[in-house]
Amino acid sequence: MPANLLEEVEKRRTFAIIAHPDAGKTTLTEKLLLFGGAIQMAGAVKARGEQRRARSDWMKVERERGISVTASVMNFDYADRTFNLVDTPGHEDFSEDTYRTLTAVDSAVMVIDAAKGIEAQTRKLFEVCRMRDVPIATFVNKMDREARDPFELMDEIERDLQLEVTPASWPIGSGQDFRGCYDLIRDRLILMDRRAGDVASEGIECQGIDDPKIDELLPAHQAEKLREDVAMVRELCPPFNLETYREGHQTPVFFGSAINNFGVRELLLGLAEYAPPPRPQKADGRSVNPDEGKVTGFVFKVQANMDPNHRDRIAFFRLCSGQFRRGIKLKHMRSGKVLSVNNAVLFLARDRELAEDAFPGDIIGIPNHGTLRIGDTLTEGEELRYTGVPSFAPELLQRVRLDDPMKVKHLRKALDHFAEEGASQVFKPIIGADWIVGVVGPLQFEVLAARIEAEYGMTARFETCGYDAARWVECEDPIRLKAFIDSRRADMAEDHDGALVYLARNGWQLNRAQEDFPEIRFLKTREQN
Ligand code: GDP
Repeated sequence: MPANLLEEVEKRRTFAIIAHPDAGKTTLTEKLLLFGGAIQMAGAVKARGEQRRARSDWMKVERERGISVTASVMNFDYADRTFNLVDTPGHEDFSEDTYRTLTAVDSAVMVIDAAKGIEAQTRKLFEVCRMRDVPIATFVNKMDREARDPFELMDEIERDLQLEVTPASWPIGSGQDFRGCYDLIRDRLILMDRRAGDVASEGIECQGIDDPKIDELLPAHQAEKLREDVAMVRELCPPFNLETYREGHQTPVFFGSAINNFGVRELLLGLAEYAPPPRPQKADGRSVNPDEGKVTGFVFKVQANMDPNHRDRIAFFRLCSGQFRRGIKLKHMRSGKVLSVNNAVLFLARDRELAEDAFPGDIIGIPNHGTLRIGDTLTEGEELRYTGVPSFAPELLQRVRLDDPMKVKHLRKALDHFAEEGASQVFKPIIGADWIVGVVGPLQFEVLAARIEAEYGMTARFETCGYDAARWVECEDPIRLKAFIDSRRADMAEDHDGALVYLARNGWQLNRAQEDFPEIRFLKTREQN
């Protein structure tokens, strides 16, 4: 084992930001990167996005709709730590991608709009984090606007999410009267300077909450209110407990205003100090420690055609153990083949850079021509597979039709690409010549049609197909399985991996099938392998 492997592991913080659309995830990301020195000025995330979009036609949909469809990864250093920030699409149509992204992080930051509290998408994403006990730090954003009472917000988080809350900072006023926060962890007063733009106040050292400095800096009524509030917080809320947080049962709450770059530094320092470094990862058969000498990891996302000049795909690979070095030979567990990884990239926020070295927790991009799929494991030789990168049964199904029937083979290729990327699922009914495409949200059909046109030069239309649910079917008893298939031949299909799928026209039909064949498992998710 390299002498510094453990040290490098301890330095890594790999996290995602989860939020309901509009809560301020993009703005917060931008400010975090600013601290990381990864970008020079605010607006760069969006500007960079624009540039990329301009190069890629299919992302027109993304631009027109004003939503961010694709997850990206950014690597930056701050406070002696190396962060990997994995961006997640916020729009609910793309939640499947988000779910998988969350399998690749060690912790999450939940952004909440101070005026709105917990929203639908926050709750959904939180549930995914809970399933995996991902520790969560909370950032209550937009304190510079009229906000709800902070005690009420804390109460809502606790009640709604069944999660212990403890404030890491406490806001002083809100809206027009928002002055800043009292840092409860470091006993500091941090005042917001509305003119400061991208420079954040370092904070003012206080000798506790009774320090007379507070009276010099704040109007009397706010100083008094702050002391009352802090006394109440200390009486009512449990103190921050590192272990409980890391187990996913307690969330420290930071208040701030991302757009004013306020509270962001405290959040980042909090992550640097308390967020967990890479944890042992579950594989079939055993759990893998990050400080093991040999490289292992898994692919959690594949993105095709990031650069239209190259038909390459990038597989996002989460390193779980060992030190990655350029040129390393890794065994691709699904095919048994050995790959020489010479051209992997690290996603530095400003640019991509060839990865010479990478450590557990890091996410690297491996360009390939379709070999690497979501859920694939790569190792330095050990027979081992990571489990738990899920595939979800689509909620919407449509038939795809081409204007030019001569291009059917081409279409098949495109649909397989998207399926491997995890953008959609494709089902080939065992009878007939159609393909059925399944997605989680309706917008995805538009994105797919735009991509088929831009990337493959074909015009495709999506039409209703009468199906409303898809379930993978499994059964230990081959005779019963065959009986089931025979009884519903017209509604049976295969996914792009050849796994058997039952397509149901409605909930009643699905129930009926389950009642008729109790020994068959109808699965809503399938683990990729
Ligand atoms: P996302 O959809 O979660 O990525 O949200 P954005 O970062 O795009 O922010 C949504 C809107 O809220 C934008 O108009 C931002 O300028 C605005 N916004 C973000 N943070 C703040 C904040 O701290 N205060 C105020 N007043 N507006 C903010």
